[in-house]
Amino acid sequence: MQAPTGLLKPSSKVAVLTGAGVSAESGIPTFRSNGGYWNQHRFEDLATPEGFFSDPKFVWIWYEERRRAIAAARPNAGHEALAEMEKRVAAFTLITQNVDGLHDLAGSKNVIKLHGDIWTLRCLKCGRERVDRSELNDLPPFCACGGMLRPGVVWFGEMLPEGAMERATAAVRAADVLIVAGTSAQVYPAAGLITMARTVIEINPEATAFSDDATYSLRGTSAEILPQLLLD
Ligand code: NAD
Repeated sequence: MQAPTGLLKPSSKVAVLTGAGVSAESGIPTFRSNGGYWNQHRFEDLATPEGFFSDPKFVWIWYEERRRAIAAARPNAGHEALAEMEKRVAAFTLITQNVDGLHDLAGSKNVIKLHGDIWTLRCLKCGRERVDRSELNDLPPFCACGGMLRPGVVWFGEMLPEGAMERATAAVRAADVLIVAGTSAQVYPAAGLITMARTVIEINPEATAFSDDATYSLRGTSAEILPQLLLD
């Protein structure tokens, strides 16, 4: 299917839902693909509160490896097209499941991070959060108050950041179009947003469970297709 033309106008209200696939062309492995994180590790050990509390050092070593890999990655043409789109339309909300911060680096402003941010550290004792991109040498890291720090990401079984889903739902309901890029849409409640949209443009090299219901299901990568949507 060809990228639709004329859908994005200066008056358009646009919402976008992104997943790990949008960062694949920046060299960051996706969640379930071959070579993806969960083919190599058990998510119960690395991405649950139980896994963390049973071995915080092990989990932190893995997160610090991811942080260093992500620190070396740059936004790709897909991230950049979304930052440009935000400047061209009347309303724009970017809802991401990614924790890598590449949308911020590309210049996107109105970003809802449903699954948190790998650069945020949160104290388990005083609750304070800080953004820290530096290399963490002593693992697990500790807060000035003496409490242990954890990665500011949402693990399986945890609540999403307060208000994030409400803001995302409002943006999708108000939007003329929802662009869904680089997500297998298997993680809820994020995937549920797709069913709330009026017009859905899906961008993915592979079919997903939502492809048949999408208004336009475009087969290709986000770095190829997102820039095409700006060419109207
Ligand atoms: P997923 O791995 O389940 O699905 C990725 C999807 O992207 C697949 O459907 C795949 O076909 C598609 N894809 C692969 N390459 C693509 C490309 N170049 N362009 C467009 N699409 C492409 O990922 P998900 O749906 O985001 O799963 C959600 C979970 O993964 C979230 O909890 C998220 O926090 C976590 N995660 C985040 C990152 C990151 O921050 N970069 C990386 C891995 C996992």
